[in-house]
Amino acid sequence: MGDFIAVHQTARPQGAPTPEEFAFVTGPVPSPAQGTALVENLCLSVDPYMRECMDGEWQLNSPLEGRSIGRVIASRDPRLAVGDLVFHRKGWRTHAVVGPDEARVLPRVDGVPTSTFLSLLGGTGLSAYVALTRVAKLQPAESVFISGAAGGVGTAAGQLARILGAERVIGSTGSAAKVKHLTENLGFDAAFDYHEGHVAELLARAAPDGVDVCLENVGGEHLEAAISGVRPHGRIVWCGAVSTYNDLGHPPAAPRNLYDVVGKSIRLEGFLVREYGHLQAELEALLIPHIQSGSVVVDQTVVAGFDRVVDAFIGMLGGRNTGKMIVQITEE
Ligand code: NAP
Repeated sequence: MGDFIAVHQTARPQGAPTPEEFAFVTGPVPSPAQGTALVENLCLSVDPYMRECMDGEWQLNSPLEGRSIGRVIASRDPRLAVGDLVFHRKGWRTHAVVGPDEARVLPRVDGVPTSTFLSLLGGTGLSAYVALTRVAKLQPAESVFISGAAGGVGTAAGQLARILGAERVIGSTGSAAKVKHLTENLGFDAAFDYHEGHVAELLARAAPDGVDVCLENVGGEHLEAAISGVRPHGRIVWCGAVSTYNDLGHPPAAPRNLYDVVGKSIRLEGFLVREYGHLQAELEALLIPHIQSGSVVVDQTVVAGFDRVVDAFIGMLGGRNTGKMIVQITEE
Protein backbone atom coordinates (compact mmCIF):
# COMPACT_ATOMS: atom_id res chain seq x y z
CA MET A 1 0.00 0.00 0.00
CA GLY A 2 2.95 2.38 0.61
CA ASP A 3 3.09 5.45 2.83
CA PHE A 4 0.53 8.19 3.02
CA ILE A 5 1.83 11.47 1.64
CA ALA A 6 -0.09 14.73 1.34
CA VAL A 7 0.93 18.10 -0.02
CA HIS A 8 0.28 21.12 2.21
CA GLN A 9 0.56 24.79 1.36
CA THR A 10 2.93 26.41 3.86
CA ALA A 11 2.99 30.09 2.78
CA ARG A 12 1.05 32.55 0.62
CA PRO A 13 2.77 33.24 -2.72
CA GLN A 14 3.85 36.70 -3.84
CA GLY A 15 3.23 36.54 -7.58
CA ALA A 16 3.95 33.22 -9.27
CA PRO A 17 3.93 30.28 -6.83
CA THR A 18 7.19 28.48 -6.08
CA PRO A 19 7.96 24.99 -4.68
CA GLU A 20 8.97 26.67 -1.38
CA GLU A 21 5.28 27.37 -0.64
CA PHE A 22 4.50 23.64 -0.47
CA ALA A 23 5.55 20.72 1.75
CA PHE A 24 5.20 16.97 1.34
CA VAL A 25 3.90 15.62 4.65
CA THR A 26 4.10 11.90 5.45
CA GLY A 27 1.96 9.95 7.91
CA PRO A 28 0.20 6.64 8.45
CA VAL A 29 -2.29 5.54 5.81
CA PRO A 30 -5.71 6.49 7.25
CA SER A 31 -8.30 3.84 8.16
CA PRO A 32 -11.86 4.17 6.87
CA ALA A 33 -14.51 4.75 9.55
CA GLN A 34 -17.92 3.08 9.27
CA GLY A 35 -19.72 4.49 6.21
CA THR A 36 -16.54 5.45 4.36
CA ALA A 37 -13.92 3.86 2.11
CA LEU A 38 -10.17 4.15 1.71
CA VAL A 39 -9.11 5.19 -1.79
CA GLU A 40 -5.65 4.91 -3.30
CA ASN A 41 -5.35 7.86 -5.65
CA LEU A 42 -4.28 7.02 -9.20
CA CYS A 43 -4.36 10.40 -10.92
CA LEU A 44 -4.81 14.00 -9.88
CA SER A 45 -5.93 17.18 -11.61
CA VAL A 46 -4.01 20.45 -11.22
CA ASP A 47 -6.02 23.50 -12.26
CA PRO A 48 -5.64 27.27 -12.59
CA TYR A 49 -8.32 28.01 -9.93
CA MET A 50 -5.98 26.47 -7.36
CA ARG A 51 -3.72 29.53 -7.75
CA GLU A 52 -6.65 31.66 -6.56
CA CYS A 53 -7.19 29.28 -3.61
CA MET A 54 -3.55 29.80 -2.59
CA ASP A 55 -4.28 33.46 -1.75
CA GLY A 56 -6.61 32.60 1.13
CA GLU A 57 -9.20 29.90 0.53
CA TRP A 58 -6.73 27.09 1.23
CA GLN A 59 -5.74 26.80 4.91
CA LEU A 60 -2.00 26.73 5.45
CA ASN A 61 -0.47 23.46 6.71
CA SER A 62 -3.63 21.47 5.95
CA PRO A 63 -4.56 18.95 3.28
CA LEU A 64 -5.50 20.60 -0.03
CA GLU A 65 -8.44 19.82 -2.30
CA GLY A 66 -8.49 18.91 -5.97
CA ARG A 67 -10.23 16.57 -8.40
CA SER A 68 -8.85 13.03 -8.31
CA ILE A 69 -9.49 9.50 -9.46
CA GLY A 70 -8.61 6.59 -7.22
CA ARG A 71 -9.29 2.93 -6.55
CA VAL A 72 -11.16 1.76 -3.44
CA ILE A 73 -8.76 -0.46 -1.48
CA ALA A 74 -10.78 -0.91 1.74
CA SER A 75 -14.42 -0.19 2.39
CA ARG A 76 -16.85 0.05 5.26
CA ASP A 77 -19.77 1.11 3.09
CA PRO A 78 -21.67 -1.20 0.72
CA ARG A 79 -21.99 1.57 -1.89
CA LEU A 80 -18.21 1.70 -2.39
CA ALA A 81 -16.76 -1.70 -3.25
CA VAL A 82 -13.10 -2.67 -3.16
CA GLY A 83 -11.80 -2.29 -6.72
CA ASP A 84 -14.24 0.49 -7.69
CA LEU A 85 -12.73 3.43 -9.52
CA VAL A 86 -14.03 6.63 -7.99
CA PHE A 87 -13.92 10.34 -8.75
CA HIS A 88 -13.64 12.59 -5.68
CA ARG A 89 -12.20 15.92 -4.57
CA LYS A 90 -9.58 14.94 -1.99
CA GLY A 91 -6.56 15.40 -4.22
CA TRP A 92 -2.95 16.42 -3.53
CA ARG A 93 -2.51 13.22 -1.49
CA THR A 94 -1.76 9.57 -2.14
CA HIS A 95 -4.81 8.20 -0.28
CA ALA A 96 -8.17 9.61 0.75
CA VAL A 97 -11.03 8.52 2.97
CA VAL A 98 -14.35 9.30 1.28
CA GLY A 99 -18.02 8.69 1.94
CA PRO A 100 -20.43 7.65 -0.81
CA ASP A 101 -21.81 11.19 -1.04
CA GLU A 102 -18.29 12.51 -1.74
CA ALA A 103 -17.36 10.02 -4.45
CA ARG A 104 -18.77 9.02 -7.84
CA VAL A 105 -18.13 5.43 -8.92
CA LEU A 106 -16.83 5.73 -12.49
CA PRO A 107 -17.88 3.47 -15.33
CA ARG A 108 -15.16 1.55 -17.15
CA VAL A 109 -15.64 2.53 -20.78
CA ASP A 110 -13.86 0.68 -23.60
CA GLY A 111 -11.45 2.93 -25.46
CA VAL A 112 -11.69 5.73 -22.89
CA PRO A 113 -8.74 6.13 -20.51
CA THR A 114 -9.90 6.60 -16.92
CA SER A 115 -8.01 9.90 -16.62
CA THR A 116 -10.40 11.30 -19.28
CA PHE A 117 -12.83 11.80 -16.37
CA LEU A 118 -10.43 14.53 -15.20
CA SER A 119 -10.07 16.09 -18.66
CA LEU A 120 -12.57 15.91 -21.53
CA LEU A 121 -15.20 14.11 -19.45
CA GLY A 122 -14.41 16.03 -16.26
CA GLY A 123 -14.98 19.60 -15.14
CA THR A 124 -12.57 20.78 -17.83
CA GLY A 125 -14.55 19.35 -20.76
CA LEU A 126 -17.80 20.28 -19.04
CA SER A 127 -16.63 23.92 -18.81
CA ALA A 128 -16.03 23.99 -22.55
CA TYR A 129 -19.39 22.32 -23.22
CA VAL A 130 -21.35 24.68 -20.95
CA ALA A 131 -19.56 27.72 -22.40
CA LEU A 132 -20.43 26.82 -25.98
CA THR A 133 -23.87 25.24 -25.63
CA ARG A 134 -25.47 27.03 -22.68
CA VAL A 135 -23.79 30.43 -22.41
CA ALA A 136 -22.79 31.28 -26.01
CA LYS A 137 -25.48 29.02 -27.50
CA LEU A 138 -23.17 28.43 -30.46
CA GLN A 139 -25.04 27.86 -33.73
CA PRO A 140 -23.87 25.85 -36.76
CA ALA A 141 -21.86 27.92 -39.26
CA GLU A 142 -20.80 30.46 -36.63
CA SER A 143 -17.15 31.38 -36.04
CA VAL A 144 -15.42 31.02 -32.67
CA PHE A 145 -12.28 32.45 -31.10
CA ILE A 146 -10.89 30.47 -28.14
CA SER A 147 -8.12 31.91 -25.97
CA GLY A 148 -5.88 29.59 -23.98
CA ALA A 149 -6.69 27.27 -26.86
CA ALA A 150 -4.01 24.63 -26.27
CA GLY A 151 -4.93 24.04 -22.61
CA GLY A 152 -7.50 21.70 -21.10
CA VAL A 153 -10.61 23.82 -21.62
CA GLY A 154 -9.29 25.21 -24.90
CA THR A 155 -8.55 21.88 -26.60
CA ALA A 156 -11.92 20.53 -25.45
CA ALA A 157 -13.68 23.67 -26.70
CA GLY A 158 -12.01 23.63 -30.12
CA GLN A 159 -13.04 20.03 -30.72
CA LEU A 160 -16.54 20.57 -29.34
CA ALA A 161 -17.01 23.64 -31.53
CA ARG A 162 -16.26 21.44 -34.55
CA ILE A 163 -18.81 18.84 -33.43
CA LEU A 164 -21.37 21.61 -32.89
CA GLY A 165 -20.90 22.73 -36.50
CA ALA A 166 -18.77 25.86 -36.11
CA GLU A 167 -17.71 27.19 -39.48
CA ARG A 168 -14.34 28.57 -38.34
CA VAL A 169 -12.40 27.94 -35.11
CA ILE A 170 -9.48 30.20 -34.17
CA GLY A 171 -7.21 29.83 -31.15
CA SER A 172 -4.54 31.79 -29.30
CA THR A 173 -1.77 30.07 -27.42
CA GLY A 174 1.73 30.52 -26.03
CA SER A 175 4.16 28.99 -28.54
CA ALA A 176 4.71 28.11 -32.19
CA ALA A 177 4.68 24.40 -31.32
CA LYS A 178 1.25 24.79 -29.72
CA VAL A 179 -0.02 26.72 -32.76
CA LYS A 180 1.08 23.81 -34.95
CA HIS A 181 -0.58 21.31 -32.61
CA LEU A 182 -3.90 23.18 -32.74
CA THR A 183 -4.04 23.45 -36.51
CA GLU A 184 -2.52 20.07 -37.40
CA ASN A 185 -3.95 17.77 -34.72
CA LEU A 186 -7.04 19.39 -33.23
CA GLY A 187 -8.93 20.83 -36.20
CA PHE A 188 -8.43 24.56 -35.53
CA ASP A 189 -8.64 26.56 -38.78
CA ALA A 190 -6.17 29.15 -37.53
CA ALA A 191 -4.13 29.88 -34.43
CA PHE A 192 -1.55 32.42 -33.30
CA ASP A 193 1.09 32.80 -30.62
CA TYR A 194 -0.02 35.70 -28.42
CA HIS A 195 3.63 36.66 -27.79
CA GLU A 196 3.96 37.81 -31.40
CA GLY A 197 2.18 41.15 -31.10
CA HIS A 198 -0.92 42.84 -29.72
CA VAL A 199 -3.54 40.16 -29.21
CA ALA A 200 -6.30 42.29 -30.79
CA GLU A 201 -4.20 42.79 -33.91
CA LEU A 202 -3.28 39.11 -34.13
CA LEU A 203 -6.95 38.18 -33.82
CA ALA A 204 -7.95 40.76 -36.46
CA ARG A 205 -5.40 39.24 -38.83
CA ALA A 206 -6.78 35.71 -38.23
CA ALA A 207 -10.42 36.84 -38.44
CA PRO A 208 -10.63 40.02 -40.53
CA ASP A 209 -14.46 39.95 -40.48
CA GLY A 210 -14.65 39.28 -36.75
CA VAL A 211 -16.12 36.26 -34.96
CA ASP A 212 -19.56 35.43 -33.61
CA VAL A 213 -18.40 33.88 -30.33
CA CYS A 214 -15.35 34.23 -28.07
CA LEU A 215 -14.54 31.76 -25.30
CA GLU A 216 -12.22 33.77 -23.11
CA ASN A 217 -9.88 31.91 -20.73
CA VAL A 218 -7.05 34.40 -20.28
CA GLY A 219 -8.30 37.87 -19.28
CA GLY A 220 -6.45 41.20 -19.66
CA GLU A 221 -5.24 41.83 -23.22
CA HIS A 222 -7.12 38.74 -24.40
CA LEU A 223 -10.44 40.02 -23.08
CA GLU A 224 -9.71 43.33 -24.78
CA ALA A 225 -9.05 41.44 -28.02
CA ALA A 226 -12.29 39.49 -27.62
CA ILE A 227 -14.27 42.72 -27.23
CA SER A 228 -12.64 44.25 -30.30
CA GLY A 229 -12.79 41.03 -32.37
CA VAL A 230 -16.35 39.92 -31.76
CA ARG A 231 -18.94 41.12 -34.26
CA PRO A 232 -21.80 43.42 -33.22
CA HIS A 233 -24.40 41.35 -31.31
CA GLY A 234 -21.75 38.66 -30.73
CA ARG A 235 -21.23 36.76 -27.49
CA ILE A 236 -18.19 36.56 -25.22
CA VAL A 237 -18.21 33.75 -22.67
CA TRP A 238 -15.83 34.71 -19.88
CA CYS A 239 -14.57 31.41 -18.53
CA GLY A 240 -11.38 32.49 -16.75
CA ALA A 241 -8.53 34.99 -16.52
CA VAL A 242 -5.42 32.87 -16.06
CA SER A 243 -3.09 35.75 -16.99
CA THR A 244 -4.20 37.61 -13.86
CA TYR A 245 -4.26 34.93 -11.15
CA ASN A 246 -0.72 35.62 -9.91
CA ASP A 247 -1.64 39.25 -9.26
CA LEU A 248 -5.29 39.33 -8.27
CA GLY A 249 -4.75 42.21 -5.84
CA HIS A 250 -4.03 44.52 -8.79
CA PRO A 251 -6.72 44.83 -11.47
CA PRO A 252 -5.17 44.44 -14.95
CA ALA A 253 -4.83 47.52 -17.18
CA ALA A 254 -6.83 45.78 -19.93
CA PRO A 255 -9.53 45.63 -21.14
CA ARG A 256 -9.47 49.33 -21.99
CA ASN A 257 -12.42 48.96 -24.38
CA LEU A 258 -15.03 47.59 -21.98
CA TYR A 259 -17.58 50.22 -22.99
CA ASP A 260 -17.56 48.81 -26.56
CA VAL A 261 -19.77 46.08 -25.08
CA VAL A 262 -22.50 48.72 -25.21
CA GLY A 263 -21.60 50.22 -28.58
CA LYS A 264 -21.46 46.81 -30.26
CA SER A 265 -24.43 45.32 -28.35
CA ILE A 266 -22.21 42.44 -27.22
CA ARG A 267 -23.25 39.92 -24.57
CA LEU A 268 -20.38 39.32 -22.10
CA GLU A 269 -21.33 36.56 -19.65
CA GLY A 270 -19.43 34.52 -17.09
CA PHE A 271 -20.32 31.16 -15.57
CA LEU A 272 -19.12 28.61 -13.02
CA VAL A 273 -18.99 25.00 -14.14
CA ARG A 274 -19.95 23.76 -10.68
CA GLU A 275 -23.50 25.00 -11.35
CA TYR A 276 -23.81 22.65 -14.36
CA GLY A 277 -23.12 19.20 -12.90
CA HIS A 278 -26.53 18.11 -14.21
CA LEU A 279 -25.08 18.22 -17.76
CA GLN A 280 -22.44 15.56 -17.03
CA ALA A 281 -24.46 12.69 -18.56
CA GLU A 282 -25.21 14.80 -21.65
CA LEU A 283 -21.49 15.54 -22.08
CA GLU A 284 -20.59 11.87 -21.76
CA ALA A 285 -23.30 10.77 -24.22
CA LEU A 286 -21.98 13.24 -26.78
CA LEU A 287 -18.25 12.75 -26.38
CA ILE A 288 -17.72 9.06 -25.57
CA PRO A 289 -18.55 7.82 -29.11
CA HIS A 290 -16.22 10.47 -30.57
CA ILE A 291 -13.41 9.46 -28.20
CA GLN A 292 -13.93 5.79 -29.05
CA SER A 293 -13.84 6.45 -32.78
CA GLY A 294 -10.81 8.71 -32.48
CA SER A 295 -12.62 11.73 -33.96
CA VAL A 296 -12.00 13.56 -30.69
CA VAL A 297 -8.48 13.51 -29.27
CA VAL A 298 -7.98 13.03 -25.51
CA ASP A 299 -5.29 15.67 -25.24
CA GLN A 300 -3.44 15.43 -21.93
CA THR A 301 0.02 16.19 -20.58
CA VAL A 302 0.70 13.44 -18.05
CA VAL A 303 3.35 13.98 -15.38
CA ALA A 304 4.35 10.73 -13.69
CA GLY A 305 4.85 10.47 -9.93
CA PHE A 306 3.21 11.97 -6.85
CA ASP A 307 6.48 13.72 -6.02
CA ARG A 308 5.97 15.86 -9.14
CA VAL A 309 2.52 17.24 -8.31
CA VAL A 310 3.84 20.67 -7.29
CA ASP A 311 6.02 20.85 -10.43
CA ALA A 312 3.01 19.91 -12.54
CA PHE A 313 0.86 22.63 -10.95
CA ILE A 314 3.50 25.33 -11.36
CA GLY A 315 4.33 24.04 -14.85
CA MET A 316 0.67 24.21 -15.91
CA LEU A 317 0.47 27.86 -14.81
CA GLY A 318 3.61 28.50 -16.88
CA GLY A 319 2.22 26.82 -20.00
CA ARG A 320 4.21 23.56 -19.87
CA ASN A 321 1.05 21.60 -20.76
CA THR A 322 -0.81 20.95 -23.95
CA GLY A 323 -4.30 19.73 -23.21
CA LYS A 324 -5.23 18.91 -19.64
CA MET A 325 -2.39 18.66 -17.10
CA ILE A 326 -2.71 15.39 -15.16
CA VAL A 327 -0.49 13.83 -12.51
CA GLN A 328 -0.39 10.03 -12.76
CA ILE A 329 0.54 8.55 -9.38
CA THR A 330 0.08 4.85 -10.14
CA GLU A 331 -1.07 2.95 -13.19
CA GLU A 332 -4.64 1.65 -12.99
P1 NAP B 1 -5.02 25.21 -19.02
O1 NAP B 1 -5.45 26.13 -20.13
O2 NAP B 1 -4.87 23.77 -19.32
O3 NAP B 1 -3.65 25.69 -18.36
C1 NAP B 1 -3.35 27.00 -18.11
C2 NAP B 1 -2.77 27.66 -19.38
O4 NAP B 1 -2.81 29.06 -19.22
C3 NAP B 1 -1.31 27.35 -19.62
O5 NAP B 1 -1.12 26.15 -20.30
C4 NAP B 1 -0.82 28.57 -20.41
O6 NAP B 1 -0.82 28.24 -21.80
C5 NAP B 1 -1.90 29.62 -20.12
N1 NAP B 1 -1.34 30.83 -19.52
C6 NAP B 1 -0.66 30.94 -18.37
N2 NAP B 1 -0.30 32.22 -18.16
C7 NAP B 1 -0.76 32.93 -19.23
C8 NAP B 1 -0.70 34.31 -19.62
N3 NAP B 1 -0.09 35.23 -18.86
N4 NAP B 1 -1.27 34.68 -20.80
C9 NAP B 1 -1.88 33.75 -21.58
N5 NAP B 1 -1.96 32.43 -21.26
C10 NAP B 1 -1.41 32.03 -20.10
O7 NAP B 1 -6.05 25.41 -17.83
P2 NAP B 1 -7.59 25.04 -17.87
O8 NAP B 1 -7.88 24.19 -16.70
O9 NAP B 1 -7.96 24.60 -19.21
O10 NAP B 1 -8.26 26.47 -17.58
C11 NAP B 1 -8.33 27.46 -18.61
C12 NAP B 1 -9.11 28.67 -18.06
O11 NAP B 1 -10.44 28.27 -17.78
C13 NAP B 1 -8.55 29.25 -16.78
O12 NAP B 1 -8.69 30.65 -16.82
C14 NAP B 1 -9.46 28.66 -15.71
O13 NAP B 1 -9.49 29.43 -14.55
C15 NAP B 1 -10.77 28.66 -16.46
N6 NAP B 1 -11.78 27.71 -15.95
C16 NAP B 1 -12.99 28.24 -15.56
C17 NAP B 1 -13.98 27.40 -15.15
C18 NAP B 1 -15.32 27.98 -14.77
O14 NAP B 1 -16.13 27.32 -14.12
N7 NAP B 1 -15.60 29.23 -15.16
C19 NAP B 1 -13.77 26.02 -15.07
C20 NAP B 1 -12.52 25.51 -15.50
C21 NAP B 1 -11.53 26.38 -15.93
P3 NAP B 1 -0.04 29.11 -22.92
O15 NAP B 1 1.08 28.25 -23.38
O16 NAP B 1 -1.06 29.33 -23.97
O17 NAP B 1 0.45 30.37 -22.28
